[in-house]
Amino acid sequence: MTETLLINGQWRASSSGETFTVTNPATGAAIADVSSATIADTQAALLAAENAFPIWSEMPGRERARLMHRAMNVFRAKLDEASRLLTQEHGKPLNDSIKECRYSADVIDFYADESRRIEGTHFSGDMGPTHSFILKQPIGVVAAITPWNFPVDLLAWKLGPGLAAGCTFVVKPPSEAPLAATIFARAFHEAGLPPGVVNIITGDGPLIGGEMVTNPISRKIAFTGSTRTGIWIAEQAAKQLKAVTLELGGSAPFIVCRDADLDIAVPEALRRTFSHTGQICISVNRIFVQRERFNEFAERFADAASKLHVTADGIAEPDADMGPMISAAGLETVRQHVDDARERGAKILVGGASPTEPQYANGLFYLPTVLVDMQRDMRMMQEETFGPVAPIAAFDSLEEGIAMANDTPYGLAAYVYTQDLDTAFYAARKLRAGGIGINVNDITDIRGPFGGMKMSGIGRELGQPGLDAYMETKHVRYRYRTPNE
Ligand code: NDP
Repeated sequence: MTETLLINGQWRASSSGETFTVTNPATGAAIADVSSATIADTQAALLAAENAFPIWSEMPGRERARLMHRAMNVFRAKLDEASRLLTQEHGKPLNDSIKECRYSADVIDFYADESRRIEGTHFSGDMGPTHSFILKQPIGVVAAITPWNFPVDLLAWKLGPGLAAGCTFVVKPPSEAPLAATIFARAFHEAGLPPGVVNIITGDGPLIGGEMVTNPISRKIAFTGSTRTGIWIAEQAAKQLKAVTLELGGSAPFIVCRDADLDIAVPEALRRTFSHTGQICISVNRIFVQRERFNEFAERFADAASKLHVTADGIAEPDADMGPMISAAGLETVRQHVDDARERGAKILVGGASPTEPQYANGLFYLPTVLVDMQRDMRMMQEETFGPVAPIAAFDSLEEGIAMANDTPYGLAAYVYTQDLDTAFYAARKLRAGGIGINVNDITDIRGPFGGMKMSGIGRELGQPGLDAYMETKHVRYRYRTPNE
């Protein structure tokens, strides 16, 4: 599978002939070699997207919608293949991969319909005989750069609204997990979208991603990934005043109030902490429990965490709770954060090490880990751990709990469990995060905007704001003559 570059409707190998190997993080086994695109390949892809822009942007929305729906019919026919590849390259249990692929197709279908509903507005001028029309028009060529944790889904969040708006794309899937995303993006080509509307390049992030960001052809950068790379992209984009949507890191707090229903809060906290091995930007990073319920919550949560099943074969065990970490670097961060907390006095209730059974020997595994006796300056209380780790701390008043939750550079998601409406509203207003879940552990809904405050990013994906992010707003002011003129 070395012809992984789709440039102007042609499948190609890299112009240098170079490839890189994608491995299974659960076993270390090689899965596939894919092309390592060069700067020249990237420039060709950008040029193809630029040439396709007049064709795609001027196509009636109804026709764009038809092709996008057709693409998802193509993809759904390959859903099994894509899901299995996703489990192999990422390690997540198969049921999670299937869910991701299905949801991604839903996102495209949702925005396909929206491409028929793009409308502006108009008004009469209030200084003489003028009338104004507000037009929404596509921004142009989009550079879409995505991470490995949801390589299909996070691509859909960009392609869906961008294609619906009339933008054309150069897409760069992540090097750790490019295979399922390539099948997804390929479906647009196979469904008959004009050549150059969706171009796919794989390869080194700083090299080809850097070219996608800095080349003047791209007018918008849609990026999900680390805060560090996001800041670099924002700096480069600023030099050419390009539009950016940046979905970056998070350190989501999970607040359990004294009146919370623990039968709901414990399993919901568990799922949002450990699913995808804690490698989700909205994963729970820190749990805060009101003191009266602290011991009860910690005991029940630790007990449940100790029973989670970690799989070394997500295809054979599709409903396992979690798989491996994606990379050795990610695993090392988790180890460092746990060691740091331990050295500063945290007590480990569960986990705190990699599993030792033989089936885990060649993979990048870490056990579900629960800690108490936390201090605010421990690394995992400040930084994004991005792993299967749950530190639990106590708070007294609601104000104190919210202050602890806000005590991080990030602001993507926050969760509050309470049965009191006043508490819920107060917390929703005071928490500094772009998404607040009240008695629900997922802030994602196709119709609702998703994005972060502070170091978690700029802009919103999904919902109407997710579509607006791919359009320019143009004011057309028209002076008309009256019969006497
Ligand atoms: P990166 O931000 O490095 O990678 C995300 C994407 O950006 C990948 O496609 C990558 O390509 C590409 N990229 C890397 N450098 C550049 C660049 N200079 N210009 C343009 N594109 C670039 O994240 P990592 O995968 O290295 O993960 C590191 C940490 O980031 C994680 O441990 C986690 O803390 C956080 N993260 C957050 C995510 C979120 O959902 N918000 C998702 C993933 C990571 P390539 O894969 O080829 O390097």
